[in-house]
Amino acid sequence: MIAQVIVDVAAKQTDRIFEYHIPQALDDVEVGSRVVVPFGRRKVQGFVVGLSEKSSFKGKLKDLLLVIDEMPPLTPELVELSKTLSDQIFAYRITLLQTMLPRVMRANYRKILTPIDEKVKNLPLFQGEPVDLNSVSDLDKIVLIKKLLKQNQAKIEYLVENKAKKKVEAQYNLTQKLAFYQEIVKKVPTNAKKQVALLNDIIENFDQYPKKSTDLKKLELSTSVLKTATQKGWLEKQEVETYRDPLKDFEPEKNARKITLNEDQQHALDKIAGSIKNKQAKTYLLEGITGSGKTEVYLHAIQETLNDGRNALMLVPEISLTPQMVRQVKQRFGSSVAVLHSALSEGERYDEWRRIRRGQARVVVGARSAIFAPLKNIGLVVIDEEHESSYKQEDTPRYHARNVALWRSKFHNCPLVLGSATPSLSSRARAQKGVYELLFLKHRANKKSLPEVEIVDLKKIQFAGGQFDLSVNLVEAIQEKIARHEQVILMLNRRGFAAFMLCRACGFVLKCPNCDISLTYHKDTKDMQCHYCGHKEPIPKRCPNCQSQEIRFLGTGTQKIQEELNELIPQAKILRMDVDTTRRKGSYKRILDSFGNHEADILLGTQMIAKGLDFPNVTLVGVINADTGLQMPDYNAAEKTFDLLTQVSGRAGRAQKTGHVMIQTYNPEHYAIELAKTQNYEAFYRKEMQVRHEGNYPPFFFTTLISVASKNEQTAAKFAFAVKRQLMAKLHAPTIILGPTPSSIAKIKNQYFYQILVKYKHEPNLNPILHQLQDKAQEVQKTGLNVYIDNEPERII
Ligand code: ADP
Ligand code: ZN
Ligand code: ZN
Repeated sequence: MIAQVIVDVAAKQTDRIFEYHIPQALDDVEVGSRVVVPFGRRKVQGFVVGLSEKSSFKGKLKDLLLVIDEMPPLTPELVELSKTLSDQIFAYRITLLQTMLPRVMRANYRKILTPIDEKVKNLPLFQGEPVDLNSVSDLDKIVLIKKLLKQNQAKIEYLVENKAKKKVEAQYNLTQKLAFYQEIVKKVPTNAKKQVALLNDIIENFDQYPKKSTDLKKLELSTSVLKTATQKGWLEKQEVETYRDPLKDFEPEKNARKITLNEDQQHALDKIAGSIKNKQAKTYLLEGITGSGKTEVYLHAIQETLNDGRNALMLVPEISLTPQMVRQVKQRFGSSVAVLHSALSEGERYDEWRRIRRGQARVVVGARSAIFAPLKNIGLVVIDEEHESSYKQEDTPRYHARNVALWRSKFHNCPLVLGSATPSLSSRARAQKGVYELLFLKHRANKKSLPEVEIVDLKKIQFAGGQFDLSVNLVEAIQEKIARHEQVILMLNRRGFAAFMLCRACGFVLKCPNCDISLTYHKDTKDMQCHYCGHKEPIPKRCPNCQSQEIRFLGTGTQKIQEELNELIPQAKILRMDVDTTRRKGSYKRILDSFGNHEADILLGTQMIAKGLDFPNVTLVGVINADTGLQMPDYNAAEKTFDLLTQVSGRAGRAQKTGHVMIQTYNPEHYAIELAKTQNYEAFYRKEMQVRHEGNYPPFFFTTLISVASKNEQTAAKFAFAVKRQLMAKLHAPTIILGPTPSSIAKIKNQYFYQILVKYKHEPNLNPILHQLQDKAQEVQKTGLNVYIDNEPERII
């Protein structure tokens, strides 16, 4: 038998499949197994993507060396998905396989294999004699390793997985009958107090054994007593794996009230449940304003899935993976829930992943990459806030979780539910055409009216204080709420203190040396920072260009607003939430918990605070500048602004008290802002579809963005123009080819970017050209040219 293997070699990423002969000893290898193979003069990690009887290769095949895991980490489904997806998004298959697995499984073969060889070398396998590995043939070596694996699976896995990825704990098993201990305790000298204590514990709590070492240590028993006890044969020591539970602090609510679905919810559920029962790969778009009870529909649908004997996968945007959403799912489904998101430690994530792989979890909740969870027998996939751009990975591999979800729903013949208050235009357009089925939730489930939204025209109002950031109207509204012991959320989508430094004498703006972008002034860390590459430098006292001292810091960030609020409303306690205050693990949760406990009056933050939060005491939401997003050179700008304003407005008035929203803007007449006032998605959809139609943008056209980057601007430009010529030769109207143009930020991290945008309706010639380009890209990479292909980019920079 032959194994087809994709090797995990970073330096030479390739989609070539290498064939290896499967020796007898490794005939338990499966599609999806992680293996070790000889590769050139090295031994490397690889993944088996196929098995066959015959080889197309003429020469002699080398042997597989080792099957690493007892259970193949990849399911056949994921192996197949990696193939399809790599074709669709022009990503290397190995990159996708890596993305599908926990980071701890990444190849680290140098570290991995040496200790194995070392171990094997000194292991008494043949009649107790240590084996000299140099003296045995490769096949014998494999047999040995296999034998060793069988004997000592836990230890070897521990080595192979590059240490400490599995957490083990010592456990002590009883070796004798109760009578033995009762007898022996009489014989132990009385001065061996600790031994007596241990024996007494065994006698009294005989049923509670085996006990973990941590529990025994609570009896104030030292390690040496346990050692003596094992030596004497009273106890047997064993290493057991412990599970790092990311939700160990979770305590279910005792008297959670049972919710009866309203008519709209029930209708939606019936539809979805029908598809679950009938194994229909159907996509539903569940549209309903915030608070209309979408989550409740998801939870009921998950219950239906479990009742049907199948499992459920639910994606939520990273940011709303606040404890709030996870808690709800955990409350309903208890220990069958596994969570996967970036706030977990590597170890926690690995443990959760293994629980899923072993079939111990039946409901998976996670962010983008959880779409690759090795969950089997899926009966339902849910994507909450389906319009969120975080579902698209902006780095290689550039996959969209929604597309992967569509594929998995087809694979498992199960429904996919996309939920949103403001669906992406493309999803909504598909629903309109009948490709998806639209399910509406018309009212707020808790019968609350929508908050009152007021647009504050910054061209016409008076500002409070000496700055031009906070209107008198907004400041007064905040004061009023605080006086009533209610809370306020304020959003400004820009972190730092000031957006840039300008010299009034010569007009110089301080820019990042690596990027074509101005440096942001950070007052708390007392430096100038680049938000693209992380470059930092001291705050200049004089203009670096003309030495003038006439320098000003313009443009406002969250730090500056905090300072202004401290001056204007000194009695207000403020919590700030942005990238700068949430770098450390757990800080996000700490800030939210603190605000939830009313330890502060104001929560000020970037778009981080716009979504998913549910604080009943918040009665005012203020948007400090609604225009930041609109200024982006991005066809999605209006959609994103409308969504952000709608979402953040939804944070106000979630309980009994009515909510107010104040949106400050210089563009009150812009349709995205005007329509956000009434949260009129329908009107926004119609207007925006017109705009997209006129501009030949999605969803009327598909788009592919080709970016070419190099340290040398000429090189980048030249290559980009060559690509354009090729495209022109093969593609025809109605396909549109735009560019190459320098990106709106022409230089990022010392690389100059040129972009070509292809817009097409149906273009069979495009895929082959792009695959050629992908091959070419690999070639030219050596010369410092980077080429990126992004299918359906979320953003065109
Ligand atoms: P969404 O996900 O659409 O924002 P949720 O599902 O979170 O909305 O529901 C908003 C609030 O309304 C929650 O507090 C939820 O418990 C409550 N709720 C949902 N459905 C019902 C219902 N049928 N009856 C009463 N309350 C409901
Ligand atoms: Zn100057
Ligand atoms: Zn930079």
